[in-house]
Amino acid sequence: MSAIYGKVKSRVLVTAGPTREKIDPVRFISNYSTGIFGYAIAEEAKNRGHAVTLVSGPTALRKPAGIRFIPVESALDMRRAVLKEFSRSRLVIMAAAVSDWRAKISGESKLKKSRGKKALELVENPDILKELGKRKNGRVLVGFALETENLRKNAIKKLKEKNLDIIIANQLSGKGRAFGNKPVTIIMIDRHGNEETFRRDSKREMAKIILDKALQFKL
Ligand code: C5P
Repeated sequence: MSAIYGKVKSRVLVTAGPTREKIDPVRFISNYSTGIFGYAIAEEAKNRGHAVTLVSGPTALRKPAGIRFIPVESALDMRRAVLKEFSRSRLVIMAAAVSDWRAKISGESKLKKSRGKKALELVENPDILKELGKRKNGRVLVGFALETENLRKNAIKKLKEKNLDIIIANQLSGKGRAFGNKPVTIIMIDRHGNEETFRRDSKREMAKIILDKALQFKL
């Protein structure tokens, strides 16, 4: 396995975008993630000469050139793809907004309209990043935390629980802020307790900062 230090380039795995959890052939559960952040990180890693694999949920973005691109739909699909790529990756950056739940039953025929209340039973999706944290074995792991409240506290909790090296805490405030091509306010926290706040930087700019930080991590 090559080091990501100095001039030796290595394999970087990035996830991006939302997942779609099928309810029936025409409906799904998803979220507002656009994939812009993850794609910007993948591009930046490629520009620095690393071999990049991007596992992406459905987005409206163009497939980046010069990057191995693996399109997926659901959290289970994403898990399968990520686990397959993980062993040969040296740095893993999980920017995807993975749906925490999926429908317990997803029908092959369209649910019919009926009178009265309808309830959808959900089951929990596996936490992919937490799984990776358990079998990290020297790899550098970066996670994201998008929160509406207690940003710092929740991010530190996730950093520890998922055995990460770095967490990128992204405050979601107001209507849909933090999604799309907008400046973001971010707290970047590492496993040693170092913390930096970036106010209203572009995602492209933040992608550079995140990679600079991740590449400092030594085995
Ligand atoms: O716990 P939470 O969903 O806020 O954690 C966010 C981080 O965990 C992100 O890096 C996301 O890509 C990852 N994640 C995951 N599998 C899930 C949920 C989140 O890998 N089921």
